[in-house]
Amino acid sequence: MGLLKHSLRVAKLLNRFGITQSWKGVRFLCYHNIFEDTDVIPNSLKPYSIHKNEFCEHLYLFKRLGINVISMDKALNILKQNEINNERHVCITFDDGYMNNFIVAWPILKKLGFGAHFFICSGFMGNNSNASTYMGVNEIKSLVAEGGTIGSHSQNHPILTSQKYEDVVTQVTTSKKMLEDIIKEDIDSFAYPNSQYNKTIIDIIRSAGYRYCFIIGLGCVKKISAYNQYIIPRNVIHGGRKAVNTLMIRGGYDWACFYSKAQAAYKKNISLSDSY
Ligand SMILES: [Zn+2]
Repeated sequence: MGLLKHSLRVAKLLNRFGITQSWKGVRFLCYHNIFEDTDVIPNSLKPYSIHKNEFCEHLYLFKRLGINVISMDKALNILKQNEINNERHVCITFDDGYMNNFIVAWPILKKLGFGAHFFICSGFMGNNSNASTYMGVNEIKSLVAEGGTIGSHSQNHPILTSQKYEDVVTQVTTSKKMLEDIIKEDIDSFAYPNSQYNKTIIDIIRSAGYRYCFIIGLGCVKKISAYNQYIIPRNVIHGGRKAVNTLMIRGGYDWACFYSKAQAAYKKNISLSDSY
């Protein structure tokens, strides 16, 4: 808490002097639940749930700051081909596959002509019993038909680093196949549940045919190469922390991303100079 308070103070200071406005690249954002007044969000999900009004405020903020909202495909292409061109982009992603992504967030995004990428837990599809309601096959098909894109978030969201080797293989291969059968397209992106991964997990994921994997981290991304394609950072949006979320989008926390880079590189066992 002390660290967060301190970080917020530094971020606000940087923002006041306009330093946060200088970032260029693609900022991947990670949302979870987007709720409406009538929704009851379980306490366990509140840290990652925001009201739709706050979500709309983010979308207007992108517009006001001249940030382009781009699809996952476009983001990856730009980053692979080194075509940032001094611009600022945001790529919106959602984790876990909650039904409110489809009912609340997606219509707003569609109205504005924005795309989004949804990381789905294939084993949760259509499930209403886990204190949450998850999108089913029909919703996922509709998202894709309307321009949304899909990635895997494993089968049942286990912490992969504490699973047996064979179980990790099953989690990543089964979810890939299930989702591909639904959308009839290749699933090549993966978001690690709770952002937990290590070198063995990355090797399994690579062998399963995934090409881009996402962690939770700070900062924006300027390029994607063989060194970081399995540890691409996304800024996670927190529930009940409006000021933090806004400053993060503005780039107020990018100064602290050296820490997440170091952590990511350590886990992947690569040198810092090679990372993103
Ligand atoms: Zn998750």
